[in-house]
Amino acid sequence: MLSYRHSFHAGNHADVLKHTVQSLILTAMKEKEKPFLYLDTHAGAGRYLLSSERAERTGEYLDGIGKIWQRDDCPSLLEPYLTVIRHYNRSGTLRYYPGSPLIARQILREQDKLHLTELHTSDYPLLRNEFQKDARAEVLRADGYAQLKSQLPPPSRRGMILIDPPYELKSDYPDVVTGIEEGYKRFATGTYALWYPVVLRQHVKKILASLEKTGIRRILQIELAVRPDSDQRGMTGSGMIVINPPWLLEQQMTELLPWLHQALVPTGHGHTLVRWVVPE
Ligand code: SAM
Repeated sequence: MLSYRHSFHAGNHADVLKHTVQSLILTAMKEKEKPFLYLDTHAGAGRYLLSSERAERTGEYLDGIGKIWQRDDCPSLLEPYLTVIRHYNRSGTLRYYPGSPLIARQILREQDKLHLTELHTSDYPLLRNEFQKDARAEVLRADGYAQLKSQLPPPSRRGMILIDPPYELKSDYPDVVTGIEEGYKRFATGTYALWYPVVLRQHVKKILASLEKTGIRRILQIELAVRPDSDQRGMTGSGMIVINPPWLLEQQMTELLPWLHQALVPTGHGHTLVRWVVPE
């Protein structure tokens, strides 16, 4: 039984980091005319109403997207992401938060494809409805990890793969590494972006150590923490592990993260990090 619902967390600091990185990767991929696949293994519901009871209960978006979306001094590197946020909130009020599939939908071109999977019985129909009229998209109620075998390599031989599990099952930690290994065996030139929470630092270390052991190269880690690491319950930060990042991503995130951190956490608590786990 899956109990995680992203609607409690949509638009929080972790989404801001994840979707900023996602937007920069997809924007970079459009530099070549050749089509590509966007594969989202854990796609969620697609759209989140921020005035819903769930979003209001946690109010997490207020400390995330709520803090930046209307600032007039945002670095231009945030434009691809914020353009999508504004597209879904044209009235000028922050009503909707677009999840990763809707962000991709806005950035992708006519020739690109989306393959989205979501397992939750309530979120899957919402996601499917969002894409009913989009001929580029295939939406399945299926296991996300299995797609890393069945959908790769894409016919276009170009692709971004977002792996964003809820980590509510302990098995998600080893499964993300096995899934990436399976995907990489079939499609070694794809760009893989794995999201992780910082709840217990040892879990992050374990993912990184297991990935290093696979022999995969070009692994970049990007992290934004809003509090110092802690062994108490709760997420103090989050990160993205990107395999085969576009060549400018390291530089872009090194430039952007200090601004983002200052905007989200004016007290300066927590930290930012951009580093190669495994270089070229
Ligand atoms: N990627 C989304 C975004 O950025 O907007 C958020 C996804 S949320 C963190 C994780 C989602 O994975 C949940 O909606 C959950 O129901 C779904 N899920 C959990 N296990 C799954 C699996 N094995 N395959 C596909 N989806 C799964």
